[in-house]
Amino acid sequence: MSNEVRETIILGSGPSGLAAALYAGRANLNPLVITGNEFGGQINTTSEVENYPGFSGETGPELVEVMKAQAERFGAEIKLDYIEKVDLSQHPFKLSSHGTDYYTKSLIIAVGASYRKLGVPGEVELTGRGVSYCATCDGFFFRDRDIVVVGGGDSAMEEAIFLTKFARKVTVIHRRDELRAGPLLQKRAKKNEKIEFIWDTVVTKINGENAVTGLELKNVKTGEIWTHQTDGVFIAIGHIPNSDLFQGQLDIDEQGFVVTDKRLRTNVKGVWAAGEITDSVFRQAITSAGMGAAAAIEAERWLGEQEG
Ligand SMILES: Cc1cc2nc3c(=O)[nH]c(=O)nc-3n(C[C@H](O)[C@H](O)[C@H](O)COP(=O)(O)OP(=O)(O)OC[C@H]3O[C@@H](n4cnc5c(N)ncnc54)[C@H](O)[C@@H]3O)c2cc1C
Repeated sequence: MSNEVRETIILGSGPSGLAAALYAGRANLNPLVITGNEFGGQINTTSEVENYPGFSGETGPELVEVMKAQAERFGAEIKLDYIEKVDLSQHPFKLSSHGTDYYTKSLIIAVGASYRKLGVPGEVELTGRGVSYCATCDGFFFRDRDIVVVGGGDSAMEEAIFLTKFARKVTVIHRRDELRAGPLLQKRAKKNEKIEFIWDTVVTKINGENAVTGLELKNVKTGEIWTHQTDGVFIAIGHIPNSDLFQGQLDIDEQGFVVTDKRLRTNVKGVWAAGEITDSVFRQAITSAGMGAAAAIEAERWLGEQEG
């Protein structure tokens, strides 16, 4: 156990955490990045990244390696550990993993979010091979294909409408007989000629060896079972921010996102949140990285003010 007090600790090693590490490193804060169990975050799981400006590599892991090396070059320390408990009522703040306590004057929370999964056979195996959770990221790869969107909320309708720019046909599969999405989005989706709906239906299996070829479907009212041919499936059934750790200590909205002001400050002085832990709207590597950089700039200024 160490009682060393760091200037800043960054929780999470996705794009927002690593961008924060780069900026905090360049500001001589000697930041400690605690990676969590998924080093590199969500982007580390994807095999194609074509929309990160200036990145001429191909895969998510390549992007993460470049970001990590750049942060380390400026003094960031990267530690593989997972924080199980935080105490933001004391200053310096205390963070505890299974075997270690960490103390820090400032904290940047970049613990991200997870897409809600269907939990059906084939989903994990075919992720990145026709199964996607992000139309902005992967829609481009489905030009002139027949694809499916699963879900009935705002995100599902936004994804479906966006995907009609590329796909020949988009079939929305929803487990109920009406959408949860807002009326305007519903109207736009329903009058789009490329979008069809299958109601009262759930996906029970995703078929394919190396790429998605179809879905096994079941009508929840009649029990009918059938196979639907498709080249891809976008799952848009929710997004879960990893905010449990901060319940009762930070302001968290009804969807679970950590609440910040536009300078990414939380309601506790000295604590910022960046990336998907606070963002239900943009959900991109570049926007998350931008927030990480901004949070680090804020932390550096705040620490300077405290000293002054
Ligand atoms: C399959 C897939 C493909 C994608 N493709 C693209 C794309 O092509 N382009 C694009 O712009 N975006 C893409 N995205 C979205 C992009 O990956 C996310 O927007 C981005 O990763 C969010 O970054 P983040 O740093 O906020 O959080 P995350 O990437 O979610 O990272 C969160 C980090 O926090 C850590 N963590 C969590 N809990 C703890 C804890 N208790 N203690 C310590 N650490 C913790 C995790 O280990 C992880 O390192 C894709 C997402 C997925 C899932």
